[in-house]
Amino acid sequence: MKLINKYKSPNYNSRKFHKIKFIIIHYTALANCNEAITHLCKADNKVSCHYLISQNGQIYSLVDEKKRAWHAGFSYWDSITDINSCSIGIEIDYSNNKNNRKFTNKIINSLKNLLYYLKKKYKIDEKNILGHSDIAPYRKIDPGKNFPWKNLHLSKLVFMPKNINKKVSSNIINWFKSHGFKSKKTISIFILMYIGYDILPIFYNKNLYKNLILSYQSHFNQKNISGKLDIHTFNKLVEHFLSLLLTKMKKNLLKH
Ligand SMILES: [Zn+2]
Repeated sequence: MKLINKYKSPNYNSRKFHKIKFIIIHYTALANCNEAITHLCKADNKVSCHYLISQNGQIYSLVDEKKRAWHAGFSYWDSITDINSCSIGIEIDYSNNKNNRKFTNKIINSLKNLLYYLKKKYKIDEKNILGHSDIAPYRKIDPGKNFPWKNLHLSKLVFMPKNINKKVSSNIINWFKSHGFKSKKTISIFILMYIGYDILPIFYNKNLYKNLILSYQSHFNQKNISGKLDIHTFNKLVEHFLSLLLTKMKKNLLKH
């Protein structure tokens, strides 16, 4: 894997804890790679990332992996709030409405190589490779609804819920209902929390539930991006919950 070390960003500090657990994927929302390099390397902007991938698949190393690059901002996953201290941030030269509005094969191939290298080096769990919108669902939408999560999953790099037998799903739903979960919405909020999402803000502002569902859909259910808890999204969430439970059980069994 070839890295370009020509440009460096001053926007970093020391990690507060040193174990790297997450990889966070972003897009720049800028017109091209040169603009992105300028933006990410300018001290006044106070933003950066470890790696930037250009439209033609070149990988720029902007911040040393040992350092805490400033890419995640105010964020949350599974009770962790200082994501910058325990993650590697990857920016992709991509914007929804400019000439760079494609996740080209060159980008995807380079990203796969980079993910493979980082996963192996830091023993990162596939469930901890996330989008910026997963860890900041009320502020951010990158890497967006066109980002090829499924393609990365087929290369065994990221987690996707397994399809689960309908009967098993309906048993789980009945279990929730008999344990005080009155509606599908309540079940969905519980599952989203279980997955790792920050659910607290929706108790202060009900309108934010839509953002949370949109974030979930743009990562795990891209065929159905509505911001609504439709039946497909609900079923996907139940499958997701079960997949996580089964993975946990399997891990525990293997430990003994
Ligand atoms: Zn971002």
